[in-house]
Amino acid sequence: MSYCASLAWEQAVTNKNKLHTLVYHATREQFGLGAQLACCARDKAAEAVRAARSNGSDTCPTFTTDRSIRYDARTYRLMSLDRVSLNTMQGRVVGQLVLGEYQRTRLYDTTWKIGGAELIRRDGVWYLHITQTKANPTPSEPTGVLGVDLGIVNLVSDSDGEQYSGEQVKRVRERRFKHRQRLQKRNTRRARYRLRQLARKEARFAKDTNHVISKSLVEKARRERKALALEDLTNIRKRGTVRKAQRREHSSWAFAQLRAFIVYKAALAGVPVQFVCPRNTSRTCSVCGHCDKHNRRSQGHFQCGVCGHTANADTNAAINISRAAVIQPLVLRPTGEERAQAAAL
Ligand SMILES: [Zn+2]
Repeated sequence: MSYCASLAWEQAVTNKNKLHTLVYHATREQFGLGAQLACCARDKAAEAVRAARSNGSDTCPTFTTDRSIRYDARTYRLMSLDRVSLNTMQGRVVGQLVLGEYQRTRLYDTTWKIGGAELIRRDGVWYLHITQTKANPTPSEPTGVLGVDLGIVNLVSDSDGEQYSGEQVKRVRERRFKHRQRLQKRNTRRARYRLRQLARKEARFAKDTNHVISKSLVEKARRERKALALEDLTNIRKRGTVRKAQRREHSSWAFAQLRAFIVYKAALAGVPVQFVCPRNTSRTCSVCGHCDKHNRRSQGHFQCGVCGHTANADTNAAINISRAAVIQPLVLRPTGEERAQAAAL
């Protein structure tokens, strides 16, 4: 792969077919790769070079032997009794998959088509990430809109006044943050190892939380036959009114992931999703429409300066979002849905 990438880099080729003519024979002869593995290596190299170029990087990407290996339908095969056969440079290798409950259900669910896979090694354990696809159901005609506000204290508030997660998540993250700071100060080898461990733990925690929240939110919209309305998240970092102490929590939470989970779970459930402009959603009164930044008295409290309406600030924002969606429907209907899943070998 490194060889493919260096050639692609030198000759400025990111097209897979063009790269193919450059490297195919060399990879087969010099490195003894099988025909299919040579193609997978070429594809990965081409993608890496293209990504590096679009990031403005000025060095060629390299791959260590521990890097992940791409498999397609021709280079790996799932077999009975949870075994998998993989093409390697030493011929075919059969491995035993260790499947969790979730992975098993999905792999044996024939409505999910099995696609390519990626083999990854971490801490001496091999993981096989298998991609499965399923066509989205046609979204049903919604009877209303459920506005969704993503925030700091409450990760998600909807326009019915329901809030998802909050204090407990905040406490866990606060504790981890302090722990991280202590380790950063110590800066020993052991501390750096612990930091990496902690970062992975944090990412798992965020992912689990995001799964739970997005699941119950989408489930509610499906039950009530409503569309979901979300703020366009590209602006969440730019919203200037976030106080400094909150900024850390705000940008470090995996909001993009949370939104992605909501979008794909909604697509699977046939719930339409609409994106609305986030402008003024938190400072406009949801009763009389008066817009003033002083309306938001504090992080959690909203009080209108004109009609005197009081509400939870996040709920008020979520109501505004649901209204914006009705006025300006931007329906997003992704056509295909991808789920990657991991099984330890
Ligand atoms: Zn008002």
